[in-house]
Amino acid sequence: MAARTDGFEEPYLVCLGSTDEIGASCHYLQIDGTGIMLDAGADPEEDGLDSVPDLDFVQDRTDTWVDHVLITHAHQDHLGSLPVVIQNFPHVMVHMTRATRDLAGVLLPSSARLQARKLQEGSTTTEPLFGAEELDAYEYLYLGHHLEIPFDLTGVRGHTRVEGRLWDAGHVLGAAGVEIEIEDGDDVHRIFYTSDTSLTAQAILPGGSYPEGPIDTMILESTLGADPEAETYTRKSEERRFGEALKETLERGGTALVPVFALGRSQEVLAMIDRFKNRGIIEDDIPVYSAGMMRAISDVYDKTRFTTPRMNQDFEVYGVDQKRLPRGHNGLKNALEAPGILVVGSGMMFERTISNKLAQEMIGDEKNAVLLVGYAREDSPAGRLLVAENDEVVLDEARGMQDLRCQVERFRFSGHSHRRDLLDLVERLQPRRIILVHGDSEAREWMADNIKFFNPDAEIVVPVRGEPVRLLPE
Ligand SMILES: [Zn+2]
Ligand SMILES: [Zn+2]
Repeated sequence: MAARTDGFEEPYLVCLGSTDEIGASCHYLQIDGTGIMLDAGADPEEDGLDSVPDLDFVQDRTDTWVDHVLITHAHQDHLGSLPVVIQNFPHVMVHMTRATRDLAGVLLPSSARLQARKLQEGSTTTEPLFGAEELDAYEYLYLGHHLEIPFDLTGVRGHTRVEGRLWDAGHVLGAAGVEIEIEDGDDVHRIFYTSDTSLTAQAILPGGSYPEGPIDTMILESTLGADPEAETYTRKSEERRFGEALKETLERGGTALVPVFALGRSQEVLAMIDRFKNRGIIEDDIPVYSAGMMRAISDVYDKTRFTTPRMNQDFEVYGVDQKRLPRGHNGLKNALEAPGILVVGSGMMFERTISNKLAQEMIGDEKNAVLLVGYAREDSPAGRLLVAENDEVVLDEARGMQDLRCQVERFRFSGHSHRRDLLDLVERLQPRRIILVHGDSEAREWMADNIKFFNPDAEIVVPVRGEPVRLLPE
């Protein structure tokens, strides 16, 4: 017989994805008979069911179910398991911004194709979790919302009225924080889930906007909580350094490889290259190549430029003169013959991706440069490049050790708020209870200590996967 969640005081929150690292983001809220899921992410480093949050917590109980899913943005760790959630709860309504809905239409089919390809290539033994065909049917469940306009989230068996509202989160196109209001007699309880958030502006997107405080509970990301360096860099000085590095590479006749994530960073990099050309930092006729899924995503950026927050609504990613990187070995070789800039995935340069293949051809020549603009895990090829010693590195196990003679440089362009900004946000919203998510233990510990220091009265919770915690303050 299915278990009941007796003993958990409603409303409660339970993290269904990993909590001591950045894995699949997925938080389940049980609010007086209404079941709400905040994000349905997949762990990008796992395959098959290992990548999916523990839906069993909800499945195995008679008094829990999912009425509504809110997707904060289209990154894999927030969106990737949505089809699996729909397979398990076919009556859910799925809420997101309209831009995120458009991006999901590009990213989920691409994830389905990648899963099928991995099985075919033999790099995994797990069956794909979903196929591209079934996604068309699921799209009818996706409701696109405008920012800051409230919508109903009361479940069919809900006893209290619940309302949702999306706030611009900066971060990437379509990203939103979620405000939830719970009616309680004459009282209203307010909860705010930041998800991934950027208080500061990037090249294309302005910083996020947030509800007025005070609120009852804040569910706060802590990605950069253990990163003291992040707060010492300014976007402006990093952008200048990036421009200089491109200029020097091109002037010595080299090619610059900029490995990027398809959603967010690639469009931001192209916007910066546009500025460098406009300001004469790099020559106008230097070819810029882009490739893969980022091109379809850039289309969504351009299509939504009048209806989503922008630094400059007239800017178009495709207004930046760019060529599609030629396919095939010869095509790649030709692109490397004259000075140019290659903006291609994957950001961490995983094996068999374009950035990895190009790097293998480039790193032996000191004229060239690999300019890393995003997060690189230590054990990824990009991470290995950063710490390479004795001018040798392994980019692909099949090829083995290679000579490393080109320039390798790292730049700090985060789509996340650094930790001082997150503390400012706590200050602004004045929550009485703070639930820390989306960060490793060290990051969440630093955040907890510092919030406690500035707000001794606040309740701070560091939840563990699968263990319910109170949603509202005592
Ligand atoms: Zn994200
Ligand atoms: Zn995330």
